[in-house]
Amino acid sequence: MQQERLLKVLVIGDLGVGKTSIIKRYVHQVFSQHYRATIGVDFALKVLNWDHKTVVRLQLWDIAGQERYGNMTRVYYREALGALVVFDMTRLATFQAVLKWKQDLDTKVTLSNGKPVPAVLLANKCDQRQLGLCPKLPKLENFSQDHGFVGWFETSAKDDTNIDNAMTCLVKAIMSAE
Ligand code: GDP
Ligand code: MG
Repeated sequence: MQQERLLKVLVIGDLGVGKTSIIKRYVHQVFSQHYRATIGVDFALKVLNWDHKTVVRLQLWDIAGQERYGNMTRVYYREALGALVVFDMTRLATFQAVLKWKQDLDTKVTLSNGKPVPAVLLANKCDQRQLGLCPKLPKLENFSQDHGFVGWFETSAKDDTNIDNAMTCLVKAIMSAE
């Protein structure tokens, strides 16, 4: 018999880093330059045939405009099983905010076994690399290990670079976390 798993995944990071774009690209295969700042929380659902006996229903939670308040309520984090922490490769301040978001996550939710929720770090807008802060970034491999991320990727929602890989990495970590 097939089993179904519903996974709540948070997409967090500063305003404008590309969270909504990453979700739209992953779920609907579209990209728009158009800036959309909705207030509230948005959901998107992606169904994956994970293996021969498991269907994964990935519920992606988008902050949609509340980033400006700095942190999110516990209600938003409740029962999350994974997170993508996103920054914009062209804006240093958004990278500096990554640890604040990771800390917010870790203080507000843990898995039922008490372990931290698996999180993957995304350096988004890598199609803009020439405008980027590559020289100012620490080696992301070390950074991500030092701060407890299960993986990291340079992504582009615009060019569809590594979005699938990042999601697969996160789902793998979630599925093996318990
Ligand atoms: P959010 O506030 O984190 O949800 O960010 P949005 O998804 O609304 O994106 C903010 C802006 O960055 C929009 O104008 C997007 O078109 C643009 N954007 C998002 N991802 C990328 C990307 O990978 N490359 C480029 N060049 N622009 C992007
Ligand atoms: Mg958004």
